[in-house]
Amino acid sequence: MKVLVYGAGVSGKGVAEVLQKAGNDVLVYTDAMNSFATSVEGVDLLVLSPGVSPEKEEVRLALSRGIKVVPEIEVAFARCSGRMAAITGTNGKTTTTTLVGEMLKTLGVPVKVAGNIGLSLSKETEELSADAWVAAELSSFQLETVQNFAPAISCVLNLTPDHLERHHTLENYYRAKRNICLQQRENQFAVLNYDDANIRSWAYDLRCRVCYFSRRMELPEGVFIRDGSFVVAWDGKEEIVCSVKDMKIFGPHNEENVLAAIAVAYLAGCRVTDLAKVIKNFQPVEHRLEYVRTLDGVRYYNDSKATNTDSAVKALEAFPDGHVILIAGGHDKLTDLRDFMGTTKKFVDVLILLGEAKSRFLAAAKAEGVKNIYLVDSYDEAVALARKVAKKPQVVLLSPACSSYDMFSCFEERGKKFKELVQAL
Ligand code: ADP
Repeated sequence: MKVLVYGAGVSGKGVAEVLQKAGNDVLVYTDAMNSFATSVEGVDLLVLSPGVSPEKEEVRLALSRGIKVVPEIEVAFARCSGRMAAITGTNGKTTTTTLVGEMLKTLGVPVKVAGNIGLSLSKETEELSADAWVAAELSSFQLETVQNFAPAISCVLNLTPDHLERHHTLENYYRAKRNICLQQRENQFAVLNYDDANIRSWAYDLRCRVCYFSRRMELPEGVFIRDGSFVVAWDGKEEIVCSVKDMKIFGPHNEENVLAAIAVAYLAGCRVTDLAKVIKNFQPVEHRLEYVRTLDGVRYYNDSKATNTDSAVKALEAFPDGHVILIAGGHDKLTDLRDFMGTTKKFVDVLILLGEAKSRFLAAAKAEGVKNIYLVDSYDEAVALARKVAKKPQVVLLSPACSSYDMFSCFEERGKKFKELVQAL
C-alpha cells in the first residue's frame, strides 16, 4: 500500500516507521515541502498527525481524490493486538493516564503508556501480545477524525472550553472528544464523569456499558466517595479501595483523577487491594502541583503545566486554607479572567505577575478586588520576591494560567527554571 503521512512530529514519525516496517511504501509530508499535490499522487491512504487540522486545503484535496484519510491513532488502534484504555478530557489526562498505567501493571501483563503523553501510540503499541494493556492519553486533535476507533475502555474526565482556535465551536470540540466512546460495542466500557451534566448525558447514545464516577454523589453503581473512602459499586458488589487521605497527590481535581483511574483499572480486572497500594505510592507527575521544597516553613510548588485558567483555579482550590503566594502570567491565551481572579481573591495573599499577560492580568485582578499585586520582569525576580514576602503558613505556588511561549520553549523548561531558582534560595 502507498501511504502518505502528514506531519513529522512524534506521532507522524512513529506511524511512518511502523507502516514502513510492515512493508508499505511510506512518504512523510510536512508543510515545509510545499508539494502536496505531487506527494499525494497515487496514494492509497493519508495518515494525519494530531497537529494537522482536517480542514486544511491539502486534506480536502486528498478527500476530493477519493483517498482514505485517517488519524494516526486509527492506524495504531487497528494494528494493536493488546487492549486499550483510552483517556481524554480537557485537564488531568496525563496524571490519570500515568496512574492508570501504574494500576494496570499490577495485572502482571505487559503495559504501555503512550499517546498525547509524548510517546507515539503507533510505535509503542506495536507487537504487543493479546493480554497486554495500553494506557493511551488522547487529545481532541487525535480524536477529531476517527471512524472505527473503539477501545476496550474509554474514559472522559471533564470538558471545559479549550482549543477553540482549531475546533472553532465548543460543540465541535465536544464532538471530537465524544469520538472516544461513540464506536464502542456492548462488551466494552465507557468511564464517564457523572458530575458533568454534558458528559453524563452521552450515556444515552452509547452501545457500550457505562461506568460513572462522581466526587459529589454516592452512585447506585460506579465509583464514588463515601465517608472519606473511595468505593467501587459494580455488578451488585461493593468494595472499599482506600481512604481519600491516602493519596499523595492532592486537591479535589486529583480526587476526580483517582476516581476515574480506579474505574478504568477495576474494569480492566485489577484487584482493589492492588489499586490501594498504587494510590498510596503515586507521586505527582512532574510540573503538576509538584512539591519542590520547604524553606523557613514555607512550601514551594511547581504547577507549570497549568497553561489555562481552569487548571490554575484547580491548583488554588487544592490549598483550602488559602495563604498562597501565586506566581502567574506568561503567553496570554486571551480567555476570560473573572473566575480565575475571583478564586485568586479568595486564596491568594500576594499575586506576582510576569510575562506577556501581566498588564491584562493586573487589570482583571484589580477589577475583582485582588490586593498585594506585584509586577516583575523575570523568573529570578519573581522567585526572589516570593522568598522575601512569604512567611509560614503561606505557600509559594507557580501556576501560570498561561502557556510558556513568551519566555520558554515549553512548560517543562519553565517548571525546571522555577525549581532551579527555588532550590538555589
Ligand atoms: P493534561 O494532560 O490534560 O493537561 P495534567 O494531568 O497534565 O492534564 O494536568 C494539567 C493541569 O491541569 C494540572 O497542573 C492541574 O492544575 C490541572 N488538572 C489536573 N487534573 C484536573 C482535573 N481533573 N480537573 C481540572 N483540572 C485538572
